[in-house]
Parts: sequence; C-alpha cells; structure tokens
Amino acid sequence: MNGLQIPTNGRRDGIFVSTGSSSSPQIRQQGATMPFGNTHNKMKLKYASDQEYPDLSKHNNHMAKILTPAMYENLRTKETPSGFTLDDIIQTGIDNPGHPFIMTVGCVAGDEETYEVFKELLDPVIEDRHGGYKPSDKHKTDLVSEHLKGGDDLDPDYVLSSRVRTGRSVRGFCLPPHCSRGERRAVEQLSIEALDSLSGDLKGTYYALKNMTDAEQQQLIDDHFLFDKPVSPLLLASGMGRDWPDARGIWHNDNKTFLVWVNEEDHLRVISMQKGGNMKEVFNRFCTGLTKIETLFKERNHAFMWNEHLGYVLTCPSNLGTGLRAGVHVKLPNMSKNAKFEDVLKKLRLQKRGTGGVDTAAVGGVFDISNADRLGFSEVELVQMVVDGVKLLVEMEKRLEKGQSIDDLIPAQK
Ligand code: ADP
Ligand code: MG
Repeated sequence: MNGLQIPTNGRRDGIFVSTGSSSSPQIRQQGATMPFGNTHNKMKLKYASDQEYPDLSKHNNHMAKILTPAMYENLRTKETPSGFTLDDIIQTGIDNPGHPFIMTVGCVAGDEETYEVFKELLDPVIEDRHGGYKPSDKHKTDLVSEHLKGGDDLDPDYVLSSRVRTGRSVRGFCLPPHCSRGERRAVEQLSIEALDSLSGDLKGTYYALKNMTDAEQQQLIDDHFLFDKPVSPLLLASGMGRDWPDARGIWHNDNKTFLVWVNEEDHLRVISMQKGGNMKEVFNRFCTGLTKIETLFKERNHAFMWNEHLGYVLTCPSNLGTGLRAGVHVKLPNMSKNAKFEDVLKKLRLQKRGTGGVDTAAVGGVFDISNADRLGFSEVELVQMVVDGVKLLVEMEKRLEKGQSIDDLIPAQK
C-alpha cells in the first residue's frame, strides 16, 4: 500500500483522536493533564543541543523515527517568519509517544513556511507517511467532477450515506497550532463574509461555537455534522485548542449537505454529504462549492495555501495534497468478518473506520470506508477508488449473503 506501519483500522489522518466513548484509553489517559504546547523560550539556547534533545526512547511516530540529534542541532535555532520553531513542530509527537497499533505523524505545521524552513525533518516525514513521496515529486489537482466515472449508483440498501471532505488553509495567516487570537478571528470573519456570498442550494448560515448551547453542539456532533470538542491530547499538545471556543464555528446550508468547519484543525474543513449512495452528486457539490469558496477568498486577496509539490498545505503533514477523504457508511456484516477483508481493503487502497469517526469501532457491521491516500493522487482519482472499491465490496457482501465464494472477485493491488 503506501508504506504505513499501521493497519487500516488504526490509520490516523488528522491529528485528532475521536473523543467519543470508544476512544482509545491509552491515548485518553496520556492527555488527561496535558497543557498545550508553548515552547517559545529563548533561554533554551543557553543549553547545548543534547541537553535540550527530547526523550524519544518510547516513541512510535513518524517524527520520532526520523529526528536525530544532529538534525535537532541543525534546526533548533531556525524559525519561520512568524516565529514557529522546531520545538513547536515536534511537541505533539513528544507528548504523544504513539499507540501500539497506530503510527501517528508526531508533528504539525504552524504556518505555510514551516514545510520549507524545516524540510530536513518534514521531507522524510512526508516520504515515510505518504508511501515514498519524494521532495522532487509533483502533486496533481483535479476538481472537475465530470471526470469521475459512475458513482451515482452505489446500492442504497448497503450504502447509507456518502461524504467528501477536505481542509484548506488561508494564505497570510498562521495555522491553528500557532495562530494568534487576532489571526483566528480574522480567519473567522473572512470566512463568514466569503461564505455569505454563496447562493441557491449552497446558501447557508454560520453558527459560532460560543453562541451555541452544549445541547445544540452535541446534537450536531451526534448527527455527524460537527467536530468534537478538543480534549484529544494530540490536539492539545499541538497548541490548536488554545482559546477554545473563540472564533470556532460551523457554517452549513439549510439541508446540511454542504458544511464548512472554521478554525478546527485547519482554517477550513469543507464537507459535502448526504444520505444514500449517490457519491457523484456529493462530489459534484463538493467541487462546485469548494471552487466557489476558493474564488471568494481570492477576491478578498486570500488565496489558499498551495504549491506544486505539496498540493494544498494543511496543518497535519498527513493531510497534504488533496486533503481529501471520500467515504461511505456501508453495511458489510459478512464481508467484514471474512478473513480477506483487510487484504481487499489494502489492495483497493481503502481504509476502514467506525461510523462515529476516526478511532471508533464499527457497530452492527456498518463501516466508514474511505480512500487511504491523500497525496500523489488527484481528487478525482481518490473518489474513483472509493466508488469502484465500494461497489466491489457490496458485490462481495451480496455473494457472502448467499453463501457463495468471493475468490474470483479479489482484486489485484492498485
Ligand atoms: P474526518 O476527520 O475525516 O472528517 P472523522 O472520522 O473524524 O472524519 O469523522 C467526523 C464525523 O463525520 C463523524 O461524526 C463521522 O461519523 C462523520 N462521517 C464521516 N464519514 C461519514 C459518512 N460517509 N456519512 C456520514 N457521516 C460521516
Ligand atoms: Mg476527524
């Protein structure tokens, strides 16, 4: 697949860990009293590099695998123009050693320049995390939904809902681990103004978290529309939970099929979703809405962070490229019990999650099945993998229901 050491059921793609009741107890425990990262301390330069070097002896994340004392020494005096340092980048990976089954990334970006100034560390992290993606590789973007073949006919008896999401960062502002209150509020204000210009099916309303009751928030979380509150240690240690809930919120259209999260892990998370198996319609709305939003931000002199190599630049290195996760909630009670399930997912370049979000367990044989890759494939290619793969999984499920063999359906490695 793409060189990850973790099984598909343990993949982490944002730096969030679900905070629901099924969250990993190890991860929850570690974070019980953890403060947010704050390492802007110039006195530390009075100490030698080896006196400052973090204890990574028990760690299992991409950062810990790659960081060396020599690299630390070379990078520790550098900072980006906004003042983001090596210690800020790696704090979340120091405070969260890892998980027996999950290879976390262990670092975050604080601004667009982080990936350039600290490439000595981040290039190999990206290569390790994204299946050998090289510093010289170029990423491709394709948001023309007409290029998707099929996808409007996933069997609704099996496919309960379809969703596509991505993140976007607004150029000119620091990212959530590093942004100031003023910057965060400016991103929120810009988002409110830009999103207010959407019309027709995409016309919607912004709801600031601080104006919502706990019950309203919980209802949106339970209905799969809203991000969870920041109690995850990965989130807290990276610094992006500071000032919560100031300048965070959700914008959505009236029927909640097009949603934008503001100032969570990324400046923006753009989501298109609906019940049933019409992924084509979901992707179509996603591309149309996202392209309109990008134009609206550009008109206000704020392009999204993007470059030819990394694609869309996001907070967590694992989300670079498309930042896209296309997924369905699909009933696979038989297939998921089949010994070949994991292998088939891997061959199709898909991952599974529980329906409560990342790190939750599947209930009643219903899984969240989505693309495993983000970088090095275009948006259309990733959604195509999901559409084709889910069709095949449903076909296998139907065979198994009738007690028939699926051997002739096992795909080759994509
Ligand atoms: P991500 O961070 O990729 O957006 P998570 O796994 O953290 O996704 O889930 C966020 C929320 O979105 C959860 O409430 C989850 O149930 C919901 N969700 C994800 N995929 C789907 C889907 N295909 N249909 C309905 N809800 C979904
Ligand atoms: Mg998430």
